[in-house]
Amino acid sequence: MVQPPILAARSSVTGVALQGEPQQGGGLIFLDGELSEVALDDDESSSFLAMVGNLDAVTVSACPGCRSRILAAVALVDLLDAAPPHPRASELVELADEAPTLHVYLVDEGSDCNHEAWLDPGYDEWADAVES
Ligand SMILES: [Zn+2]
Repeated sequence: MVQPPILAARSSVTGVALQGEPQQGGGLIFLDGELSEVALDDDESSSFLAMVGNLDAVTVSACPGCRSRILAAVALVDLLDAAPPHPRASELVELADEAPTLHVYLVDEGSDCNHEAWLDPGYDEWADAVES
């Protein structure tokens, strides 16, 4: 399917934010590892990533093959506080504030990555959190 130019342009903006992963898109789900989750759709994920710029500063461990990662909850709240307003930011702040492990688990819904290259011990923690 050929993308209209405006969508192609937005994808390339997202690609910059994601540091060299220009083909990726799709929704993101933020989990606290227990009961709560905040799911962003494609558009919300794009605008969220454009807004925060780069999650690396708040990333504890990340899959090299997709956008799935563990975020430091306190640092995520600081990042959201400092970023321009986003419609879902208050929900993410609430999730991060109440995260029992002080970690927030980000699931890349737009990827069919099997996380094989995520060799860091963080992967086990992430996999446990997202499967529970
Ligand atoms: Zn992955």
